[in-house]
Order: sequence, then structure tokens, then C-alpha cells
Amino acid sequence: MFVSRQSKKYRIFRLFGFPVYSDISFFILLLVFVYLSSGSGPQGTIYGVIFSLVALFGIIIHELGHALAVRKLGYGESTILLHGLGGVTQWRKAPKRKRDQIIIALAGPGAGISVGLIGCLVYLITGPQNDFLLNSLLSAWIWVNLGWSFFNLMPIWPMDGGKVVRAALVGPRRSAKEGVILSLRVSIVTGGLLLCAGLYFHMLFVVIIMAMLLYSNYQELQRLKGPKSSFYGY
Ligand SMILES: [Zn+2]
Repeated sequence: MFVSRQSKKYRIFRLFGFPVYSDISFFILLLVFVYLSSGSGPQGTIYGVIFSLVALFGIIIHELGHALAVRKLGYGESTILLHGLGGVTQWRKAPKRKRDQIIIALAGPGAGISVGLIGCLVYLITGPQNDFLLNSLLSAWIWVNLGWSFFNLMPIWPMDGGKVVRAALVGPRRSAKEGVILSLRVSIVTGGLLLCAGLYFHMLFVVIIMAMLLYSNYQELQRLKGPKSSFYGY
């Protein structure tokens, strides 16, 4: 592990040749997961720690899916950054083709769903585990990987579902700017509904993420709709 002087990120390891960095906010996120998922008593805390470690694994698997798709489609090597809202895969060459943009966006949730379904298969074959640790691991494995994947598939920019919607809406029948504006409107309506659901079900993590995304989506929409705007280069 070393500290990158430019950005205060820590390189923690390499995975399939991709360097994986983390900033301090990711460790805070893991602690928040432990706090939110812990039950009562020592066993509840152990479950919280297992959930948090599985979340770490699930976020890495998700980003690895993006990075492998980017490499496979010929857009070069990626770096994976883990941060306080999950993770992000970064690479230099922007995908030009709509099909490639959609495949790269879907590859993250696709990897998570595959891993989650393997967990479901193990559960179907072996049934409920008698051992507390194994049972906790399996249930966290299924919930985290499937939950994180479907959450990311919501059509909210810049989540993966939002990227798919934006790529799909920018096309021959409308300009890039019109497509982006329409995708932001879809994003804001969906984000608003999820924010309400998060408030109703007391899901703090969902509320925080949705509030931040709604704010940035609204700002981008105002900028694009402004009379002096020429910002539509997506
Ligand atoms: Zn993703």
C-alpha cells in the first residue's frame, strides 16, 4: 500500500492487472455498513462485520466487471477507485459506439448479479446453514451482490442504469443535447421516487445518495436548459 501524493488515494492491491485505489471515505463507508447492518449482541456485530466485508468484495466485483468490459472492447486499462459512495472505474479512451457504452455500463451489475446468483444456487443446493458464520456469509453475499446490482441499474445519472438510458436516448431522432436533457428528466423523477422510498423505509444510505444525485442532476439540467449554454458534449 502506498500513498499517492497527488490525490490522497491509497493503492491497496492489483486485481487482474488493474490497480485498486481507495480513499479514506471508503473506510468510513465500511464502518457505516457495520453500524447499519449490525444486529443486537455479539452475533449481531459479527453479522455487521461480515456484511461490511462482503460489501467490500461486492463493490470490487462490480467495478471489475466494468474494467474487464473496457479492456475486452479495446478501450485500454482501467484503475478502480473505492470511495465513500461505492466505487468508480476510470479509463482514458471514451467509448464512441452506443453499443459499447451500454455493454460497459451493464458489465458492473452483470458481474454482481452473476456472483449473487451463484450464492442463490449454493443456498438452493445446501439449504439453510446450521453454522451462524456460514449462514451470515451466504445471506449477506446474496443480498449485497443482487441489491447493489439492481440499485445501480436504476435509470439515474451517473449510475449504470442512467448511463444506459442516456446512451439509448441520444440517437438519430434527437440531438445529443435533447437526449441528455430527457435522460436527466428520467433521472430526476426516478431519483425523487427512490428518495421518498428511502425516507419511508428509513434507508439512510439511499436517502444520502439520492439527495446528492438529485442535486447534481438538477444543476446539470439547469445548465443545459440555460440560454447561454453550449455544454452538451456527451
Ligand atoms: Zn457501475
